[in-house]
Amino acid sequence: MSNPRAHKRIERFLANIPQLSVIGDFHSHTMWGYSKAANALSDIDLEGMEPDNVYILVGVNDRLREVSWKYNDDGSLSGTTDEHHFRLTAYVVTDAGEPRKVPIHCPYAIGFDVRPLRAVR
Ligand SMILES: [Zn+2]
Repeated sequence: MSNPRAHKRIERFLANIPQLSVIGDFHSHTMWGYSKAANALSDIDLEGMEPDNVYILVGVNDRLREVSWKYNDDGSLSGTTDEHHFRLTAYVVTDAGEPRKVPIHCPYAIGFDVRPLRAVR
């Protein structure tokens, strides 16, 4: 879940720093009891998303077993740390407000020799 009021506050703050501009943001979804974190955007997440920006959603769950970091066929990136499983999914939004996943390419996470899989929309 994101917080539109906090988002607006940050945008106002950044507007006062001329050499910076907003290119998007990120937020996390976490577990709720035994319910796994959602990797999809909520309706509230979609509010305030603007075309040309990129929005990263981080799904955080307890780690059940160790898995290595990898690109997934929907363009997301996932893997485990000592205690958690993370899935990072990047979204853009069309002019009509429809969310689209875009592939994450992060060689620092999984190595420069690994190619992202082709992204599925
Ligand atoms: Zn959210």
